[in-house]
Amino acid sequence: MISFQPPEVLLLGPGPSPVARRVLEAMARPTIGHLDPRFVGMMDELKELLRFAFQTRNMMTVPISAPGSAGMEAAFVNLIEPGDKVVICQNGVFGGRMRENVMRIGATPIMVNDAFGTPIDLDKTEAAIKANPGIKALAFVHAETSTGVESDAASLCRLAAGHGALSIVDAVTSLAGIPLHVDAWGADAVYSGSQKCLGAPPGLAPLTFNDKAMAALKARRTPVQSWFLDLGLVMGYWQGSGARAYHHTAPINMLYALHEALVMLKEEGLEAAFARHRLNHLRLRDGLESIGLELLVAEKSRLPQLNAVKVPEGVDEAVVRKRLLDEFAIEIGAGLGELAGRIWRIGLMGSGSNPHSVDRVVEALAVCLQRKAA
Ligand SMILES: *Cc1c(COP(=O)(O)O)cnc(C)c1O
Repeated sequence: MISFQPPEVLLLGPGPSPVARRVLEAMARPTIGHLDPRFVGMMDELKELLRFAFQTRNMMTVPISAPGSAGMEAAFVNLIEPGDKVVICQNGVFGGRMRENVMRIGATPIMVNDAFGTPIDLDKTEAAIKANPGIKALAFVHAETSTGVESDAASLCRLAAGHGALSIVDAVTSLAGIPLHVDAWGADAVYSGSQKCLGAPPGLAPLTFNDKAMAALKARRTPVQSWFLDLGLVMGYWQGSGARAYHHTAPINMLYALHEALVMLKEEGLEAAFARHRLNHLRLRDGLESIGLELLVAEKSRLPQLNAVKVPEGVDEAVVRKRLLDEFAIEIGAGLGELAGRIWRIGLMGSGSNPHSVDRVVEALAVCLQRKAA
């Protein structure tokens, strides 16, 4: 056996996104003890940087030591108890996973379904809330990575609050890619992932709970069913001045990576990062249109960081993706669920969102499809 040497691949799929050299170098720094006071100092900075990215003052803002899916699970297991009712909006694959989480807790999901490729319908959601008085939470995906659709998170959070329900927001793909105002929108529980628009490697799930969510956690009648994700225990490690209680050994070098990625985001500025994602999306749209390709999603709901592209009639999408990877060292994503075989997903996330990436993928697609730019 010899050391593994991964190839250089331009990651333009639904995540992981390209990891900047600076972030990789941060990961290669010496591993120190996870209770070393200097490491604890870095953890405090990391929480402050996450508050900046989430645009919140929430004390309870930490990276969970696991991927985005664990951020989702942490939000549900801490807030939902057996017997609770939860309205879940589903307009893609990830809403289906929310349903799984709620069912495994022994709570009742009330589904509001919208077609894949369209945003969540506010009127239908309101009708479902009104038809089911006493729901505990309204859960939805802000940026549906499976379809490339943005939903109106501000209005959905307002709707939940207006009916005395908590809002649980999946911001895995939205954080650092499009505006996300946790405090201004009154979003109660929000989780994300490190490997999408933040541009760190996968393996961490930033999570934030406001006072309302913390009060719901304190008021539980039953213990949180997951020991590892129980925020009461996790906070013993992530909070407090001085000594912190051992809960689990933090993924130390991964946290260096997230810290560095957030320092880079702070240097760039949130608004500048959003504008960059937007601009490169428009460049991609124009490039795709010039070779006769169309986007799936209506213009007003398109995510700049995840572009769902219709596969032309008679083209085998998997063959094209394989050629992109083998001949051009570019990875793009396939369609999921009911969109399998019908779309490609081109992610322009984090440091992948730049003009050079856009031009490379458009040129490579033109070659694979034997099309010339109009
Ligand atoms: C990627 C993603 C997840 C899951 O994150 P993992 O890090 O793959 O576990 C959840 N929700 C959305 C919207 C995502 O895009």
